[in-house]
Amino acid sequence: MLEPMRKRKALGPLNNRKLTPKTRVNPGAVLRPFLALCAIAVAALIIYAFVRDGGAPTFTLTPKSDTASFATSFSLKMTGGRSGLRDVVITASQDGKRVDVLRKDFADKPAEHTAAFKLPRDAGFKQGPIDLTVEVRNNALLSFLGRGKASAVEKLTLDLTPPRLSVNPGVHNINQGGGAVVAYAVSKDVARTGVMVGELFFPAFLQKDGRYFCFFAMPLDVPPASFKPKIIAQDKAGNEITQSVQVLAIAKSFKSDKLNIPDEFLNDKMSQYTDLYPNEKRPVDIYKRVNSELRKKNVDELLTIGKDTAPTQLWSGPFLRLPAAAGRAGFGDQRDYYYNGELIDHQTHMGVDLASIACAPVPAANTGRIVYAGFFGIYGNCVIIDHGLGVQSLYSHLSEIDVAKGAEVKKGQIIAKTGATGLAGGDHLHFGMIISGIQVSPVEWWDEHWINDNIVKHLAK
Ligand SMILES: [Zn+2]
Repeated sequence: MLEPMRKRKALGPLNNRKLTPKTRVNPGAVLRPFLALCAIAVAALIIYAFVRDGGAPTFTLTPKSDTASFATSFSLKMTGGRSGLRDVVITASQDGKRVDVLRKDFADKPAEHTAAFKLPRDAGFKQGPIDLTVEVRNNALLSFLGRGKASAVEKLTLDLTPPRLSVNPGVHNINQGGGAVVAYAVSKDVARTGVMVGELFFPAFLQKDGRYFCFFAMPLDVPPASFKPKIIAQDKAGNEITQSVQVLAIAKSFKSDKLNIPDEFLNDKMSQYTDLYPNEKRPVDIYKRVNSELRKKNVDELLTIGKDTAPTQLWSGPFLRLPAAAGRAGFGDQRDYYYNGELIDHQTHMGVDLASIACAPVPAANTGRIVYAGFFGIYGNCVIIDHGLGVQSLYSHLSEIDVAKGAEVKKGQIIAKTGATGLAGGDHLHFGMIISGIQVSPVEWWDEHWINDNIVKHLAK
């Protein structure tokens, strides 16, 4: 009896040992795959969150200037990534004073938003350094990892001192449709300065002696009573000063002219413009559009060409008139256009027509640089010379152009030959003078006395 029992006992542990791997639960061994699964799940969640969040928010603050004033219009463009914007806080701080400039929560989680703000006038900030702290958050799931936030501190100087102007004394006599120049000094660096005439801006140019020179015009269509030119100067921080220019505005009367448009002229000239108006079948209908629409487009293009100007005066002395030429149409002529007795258009002639022999050589009226040489709408073949400070001269209806854009020319140098291209009935030179894109009377520029009294004297120190 005992023996088998012992035997069994002896066998027992052996049997148990053999069975252990199959029946006993080892906690570590079972947890390992579970933990591995969890780790994969967490990794998958994080990857999902990364993908879903689509990154941190971003922002761009403009203007990118290191100075600002209470007039500075800031703009903060924010993007929230895929999770969308959550909120934005902008604070201004100076000498321990901290003020919220902008605080906004986004309930609708926009992908992007642009907020405009100014520094508060009533917060007691003083001229000097000021910090602008921007903090933008989005709805990122991983915000706890710092992925949902973007922030920066912009170090600015608050500048509250507007520029001061010292304008050369003297009254400017200015003719309707004519030009003038003003010289002045500004007390500090400026971002923009010049003369405003209504909505028109004539830029001023800084000269070596520290003064600004600004040529401006009294456009022909501005009544003398409402001609109120103002010097404007704006510093980098946006502080602005304006001051009236002392002017005596002189009214001018302009000639009325009647122009009959014969079929012969239309059949001859409109082929230059058929490509522009392919739907117009009758030459007179092409003419109407060229004379109004294309004229307007060319006038607008002069404003752009007017910006291509040297910052110094390239010319000197009176401008040259086409030699041995008779004056035909004048500046400011009020033209009524008739076709078969019917009034079809009204326009103003913005230059002087000069007739000489056919294909007469055309001299540069003064020294400068060619800024346009080619076909130019109503003007046909055309050359524009820049004389600096916004002053330009225009030569049109040319049969031949002898200069290329960019070339420097001397006063009197032959640049072209007269012709009848564009809207010209016969061979002549249409000569124009331009100030920052605005056409003015050329007659003034041919006159040495006018130049001395109205330009040289006003630019003297
Ligand atoms: Zn003309």
